[in-house]
Amino acid sequence: MSFSSLGLSPAILLAVAEHGYAAPTPVQVAAIPAILGGGDVLAAAQTGSGKTAAFALPLLQLLQDSPGEKPRRLRVLVLVPTRELAQQTAEAMRLLAPAGQQALKIAALFGGVSINPQMMDLRGGADIVVATPGRLLDLIEHNALSIAAVSSLVLDEADRLLDMGFADEIGRILALLPRRRQNLFFSATFPPAVHALAARMLHQPVRIAIPALEQNQPDIEQRAIMVDAGRRTQLLRHLLKENKWGRVLVFVATKYAAEHIADKLHRAGIKAGAFHGEFSQGARDEVLADFKASKLQVLVATDVAARGIDIAQLPVVLNYDLPRSAVDYTHRIGRTGRAGKSGIAISFVSADTEAHFRLIEKRHQLKCEREQIPGFEPVATAAPANAAGAAPPADNSNGGVKGKRKSKKDKLREAAARGEPDN
Ligand code: AMP
Repeated sequence: MSFSSLGLSPAILLAVAEHGYAAPTPVQVAAIPAILGGGDVLAAAQTGSGKTAAFALPLLQLLQDSPGEKPRRLRVLVLVPTRELAQQTAEAMRLLAPAGQQALKIAALFGGVSINPQMMDLRGGADIVVATPGRLLDLIEHNALSIAAVSSLVLDEADRLLDMGFADEIGRILALLPRRRQNLFFSATFPPAVHALAARMLHQPVRIAIPALEQNQPDIEQRAIMVDAGRRTQLLRHLLKENKWGRVLVFVATKYAAEHIADKLHRAGIKAGAFHGEFSQGARDEVLADFKASKLQVLVATDVAARGIDIAQLPVVLNYDLPRSAVDYTHRIGRTGRAGKSGIAISFVSADTEAHFRLIEKRHQLKCEREQIPGFEPVATAAPANAAGAAPPADNSNGGVKGKRKSKKDKLREAAARGEPDN
């Protein structure tokens, strides 16, 4: 299949060729003609599948077919869950815009930074807006823009938008949009809340589910290494030394752990930085740019980084702390193995977290061999599991028992008392 058989205009085809894309990805093959046809789309698209270009290319073409007026009226609205994804998607759309459309105004709007520059930027209007829901509503309330003339709405990473608690904001935004419009709905996973939102928004959508054929699966080798919780930082240092990994994204459960572990690695002479939601936007941009530019070898991050960030050539993702859910596991490991490259996803598993990891494996119909690294063999033992094999041991958590879960602060205090993640 080639891009030229999808109904794209010569100008867009030229932009695609200049971008270096040789052939469309499966989601692009299915979505591009459907979007050009003007209908709604419901796409189950995994991270790294090429979904941004799948909606960006046909939408840019539709704007080309109906040239904008002055002052500009906002015609394409893309809602995304995070600031990083807003910036990244807007930039991808700017780069994909064909030569004749360089004058298109594509604005990225997101919270966590002062609203004033974004208000200034919107003077004279915008043709395309990529926004996080809260900041978009703030700007509408400030009369900085109107979404009343939007002809195409994209919900990108709909599952994450709902995960992050944006359901109310999305409802308010939908109420302000014109009733007749094209809706494009992209989500990696389809839990019930996502299904419900799709059913509410979409009109006879073209459904796109890329079959889980071997060749469409990202090439990610998934590994599990058994290690006692208190020795994880040492093992991480050992693995960094033994393997010639260029760049490693390490996931931890808390902001405290992100900073603490990055600091420990840094002091051990490893170029490491922390990345979490409490940093200012400027600090987040800077640390991410350093990681992308290989000034940092290791980025220790909370789940803020699990979605949407496209780091080319990220060979290794490491779960220092396991993700809370099987869905988060998918998003974390999806940071590697992108766009046809292979990757490794390693999870540190201890006696305390073995049952939780088994649940993740079960959800993904996965069976990882439990590896042990010489010199780091675990000595701690797990409390006996229940009949379902899913109950975490009593000494560490109530795993999943609502109302009895330890608070984050409690866990942090306990970890500090045990000397973790100090080694
Ligand atoms: P996305 O799923 O949109 O985050 O895209 C993942 C990565 O795939 C990005 O780095 C894109 O630039 C890249 N990409 C998208 N479409 C193609 C294509 N047809 N050929 C090669 N790379 C692509």
